[in-house]
Amino acid sequence: MFQTSIQIQLRDGNLALFWQDAWLGQSSPSILAPDLCNLIAPQVKRTRTVAQALHQKQWILDFAGCATVPALTQYVLLWHKLANVHLIQGVEDRVLWRWDASGVYSARSAYRAFFCGATKFAAAKLIWKSWAPMKVKFFIWLAVKERLWTADRRHRHGLQRNAECTFCEQELETTVHLLAACPYTKEVWHIVSTVLHIQNTTSLSETSLTDYWVHKRRAMSRSLRKGMDSLFMLISWIIWKQRNDRNFDRAPKRNPLQLTELIREQAADWCAAGAKHLAMFQWPRQQQDDAEATVP
Ligand SMILES: [Zn+2]
Repeated sequence: MFQTSIQIQLRDGNLALFWQDAWLGQSSPSILAPDLCNLIAPQVKRTRTVAQALHQKQWILDFAGCATVPALTQYVLLWHKLANVHLIQGVEDRVLWRWDASGVYSARSAYRAFFCGATKFAAAKLIWKSWAPMKVKFFIWLAVKERLWTADRRHRHGLQRNAECTFCEQELETTVHLLAACPYTKEVWHIVSTVLHIQNTTSLSETSLTDYWVHKRRAMSRSLRKGMDSLFMLISWIIWKQRNDRNFDRAPKRNPLQLTELIREQAADWCAAGAKHLAMFQWPRQQQDDAEATVP
């Protein structure tokens, strides 16, 4: 990383290492002439400066061992390139940092260089900038990446016989089906949307969870979009937990209406813990009313 990040602006040649440093245009002799460099002792490679190497053509005397045909070709190439090199006495070589136009090192530019050519993860901002407990964010991250152990995936890996959805038992249980397309999930969304007086949109093509999520949030007014992000993660999380409860017989089955109650309770906890955008929805205060009703 360091070798590719620096370039030497050659002046008196006392700083630049002849074989290793990128002082010859954008490159170094070790890159231009790799076979030739194999003939140089490591100790010499690490210490020979450009000034020393060019003095009375010392670089030719650095070779040890028999030259191969590629090495001889590279020798001629290097010879021609060195013919145009002229040192400027009395001025020090400058080390330039490639990742910044100023040529000066900064941690910021070095950090960015590590991500050259990286592709952006479309849902990154949606997930990491929204309010949800960290375990839920990780869950959604896996879901968007289609890395949840759904029945479909377990079946593909030979871990279980059936690949059908836990809820409807009719379609393959993929992440998108489970969290967007399943009639059970749609029913939950319908009830929650009715309770909160928000528009319930379903994407026409539920091929990706991210698209489905984006479609849902775009249907909201700007002020409620962040709340929708939290709500989307909350509902998906509760549906996933319900799916696991059913698969592992951990709790009695809940129908969509009962699950909505669970979502409301969990939303109250999230709001109390700081989910201020989620609190902008008009959550019914049923539980409190019930509690008051039971007080003798
Ligand atoms: Zn289903």
